[in-house]
Amino acid sequence: MGRQHLGAIRERTRWWVPVGPPPPTLTRENVLLCGDAANLVMATNGGGIPTAMLSGWLSGQAAAQHVRNGTPLTSYDDAWRAALFAPLDRAARVWGFGDHFARYDPLLALGMRYIGTSGLDAMMRLRWPPRLGRNS
Ligand SMILES: Cc1cc2nc3c(=O)[nH]c(=O)nc-3n(C[C@H](O)[C@H](O)[C@H](O)COP(=O)(O)OP(=O)(O)OC[C@H]3O[C@@H](n4cnc5c(N)ncnc54)[C@H](O)[C@@H]3O)c2cc1C
Repeated sequence: MGRQHLGAIRERTRWWVPVGPPPPTLTRENVLLCGDAANLVMATNGGGIPTAMLSGWLSGQAAAQHVRNGTPLTSYDDAWRAALFAPLDRAARVWGFGDHFARYDPLLALGMRYIGTSGLDAMMRLRWPPRLGRNS
């Protein structure tokens, strides 16, 4: 796992959310990461409440199964990846693309006009703007 996801937190964490691609794993020895601590925020809309709730629930299930049946804790990775990896990954790529335009106001305005309201709606929903003709 990249250190950027598990390194010591030195900055104050209020007022911002961690945005980026989903980490490859959220399991490190006997530690299971969820929510903001796991970088599970939808990059194109900053939403992290549903992902925090779902990952918290899935990690709790994995922990319980580990204690009861000896199921490896890495079953948590299978569970959150199945539910969250694809939309988080796509949102990070859409955000990365849009970020090129966000550096200059005129370029941003032009880009927003080009993709239109349906494109903005799609980006909020973690999808590519239809006008760009991309599916995944
Ligand atoms: C301004 C703003 C607006 C947002 N709006 C939305 C929105 O509309 N929709 C949406 O889905 N998401 C939104 N988010 C993102 C969302 O709030 C987070 O992604 C989500 O709350 C993450 O949940 P979490 O449980 O991982 O972390 P948190 O909600 O941050 O919970 C972590 C908890 O741990 C506590 N804690 C920290 N350190 C310690 C410690 N050492 N010991 C004990 N407790 C500790 C903290 O006090 C906190 O209560 C917004 C975020 C911000 C900043």
